[in-house]
Amino acid sequence: MRYEVVIFGGGATGTATFRDLAMRGFEAALVERRTIASGTTSASHQNLLGGLRYVINDPIVAQECAEENAIISAIAPEVIGKLRNYFVGFGTEYAWRALRAAKQLHVEATELDLRNVFAEIPSLNTDLAVAVETNDRNINAQRFCWLNCSSAELCGGSLFQGTEVRAITELDGIFHIKTDHGDLRTEYIINATGPWINTVAAKLDTSIPVTFSQGTIIVQQALSPRGIQHLREPSDADAYIVHDGYGWLGTTSTTISNPEEASPEPWAGAYLKKEIAHILPGVENQRTLSTFVGIRALADGNYPESATNNIHFQNGRRKSRDFQVIEGPKNAFHVIGGKLTTARLMAEKIADVLCDKAARSARCQTANEPLSSV
Ligand SMILES: Cc1cc2nc3c(=O)[nH]c(=O)nc-3n(C[C@H](O)[C@H](O)[C@H](O)COP(=O)(O)OP(=O)(O)OC[C@H]3O[C@@H](n4cnc5c(N)ncnc54)[C@H](O)[C@@H]3O)c2cc1C
Repeated sequence: MRYEVVIFGGGATGTATFRDLAMRGFEAALVERRTIASGTTSASHQNLLGGLRYVINDPIVAQECAEENAIISAIAPEVIGKLRNYFVGFGTEYAWRALRAAKQLHVEATELDLRNVFAEIPSLNTDLAVAVETNDRNINAQRFCWLNCSSAELCGGSLFQGTEVRAITELDGIFHIKTDHGDLRTEYIINATGPWINTVAAKLDTSIPVTFSQGTIIVQQALSPRGIQHLREPSDADAYIVHDGYGWLGTTSTTISNPEEASPEPWAGAYLKKEIAHILPGVENQRTLSTFVGIRALADGNYPESATNNIHFQNGRRKSRDFQVIEGPKNAFHVIGGKLTTARLMAEKIADVLCDKAARSARCQTANEPLSSV
């Protein structure tokens, strides 16, 4: 079977890219070795970030999250939770700085009357001095990925799940991909396999510099109807996200050398409860119902200019170190970093790069075309 582009990885990044490329008229295929959204995407907090968390230390990411939050909420309302998160703090200097920065960056953050917040959520620590409503809301990540795939298939895209790549060779500008379900040929490869990026890169005789950081999340019966986040310098254990009556406490960030070795740190449960108890004291005595771990594949930004196809640089737009696309060998592109919230934007930038390469002028439609209508 012959395609113009084959995407590896059915997480948020790969499925959003599948949709974008198929909508722009590329003959696209997506190859996922397990099932859609079975990697980091479903092991995340599944919070559609509003941007407040990043306004001080990464204003570009803050703005990207704010913009993508608005876009995803408009194109796929059915995958987004109704209740917004509150950020709460103890009135430190950081909280006021963050609120000022949010205003400048047009990141939604509305200070609330604490009396109303304590009335709504009696389990909050009453020493809290500031509460802010943001656009952070839940996202059903699996459903988001599935909608991307359905949309791509409607535009002619081909989806292969449970398909493992055995070998990749290149001859005269065409990649020959051997899978356990037959052979595929393509002009372009997008490697969106997240933490497993180097398993595909190795089949292309290359290796991508990447740092793996695991994050553990524990799940309890919820003590709040909505997500609560700690308004302080971004750090571990600052988010309590509420999904269907369950509170998800997270996360840790522990560097690991091999994504196959990810497993919850033995201290994670006690640590997450102790930290989040600062804002919600009751979590310390709540039973942990389950524990899971996700892996961040982080771009370290130290790529040589010659080897880097940094899509922010390339498009002359704002610079961000949050995600990168590395080109090579030949027409293979490897995607590192990013967030579930910014997957659509990453896909747009990847598809722009491919359009440049293929001398195609098709424009991105994913920001305006409803996902829910498929
Ligand atoms: C603990 C934690 C919490 C997070 N919380 C949030 C949050 O609340 N909000 C937010 O916006 N972001 C969050 N993130 C970040 C977000 O989850 C990731 O940026 C995003 O999910 C990455 O998606 P991906 O598609 O790049 O990778 P993945 O979801 O990991 O997808 C990669 C896919 O590739 C497949 N694959 C692997 N090898 C192969 C192969 N050889 N062939 C074919 N397929 C292959 C895998 O099976 C997998 O499905 C969090 C991350 C972590 C770790």
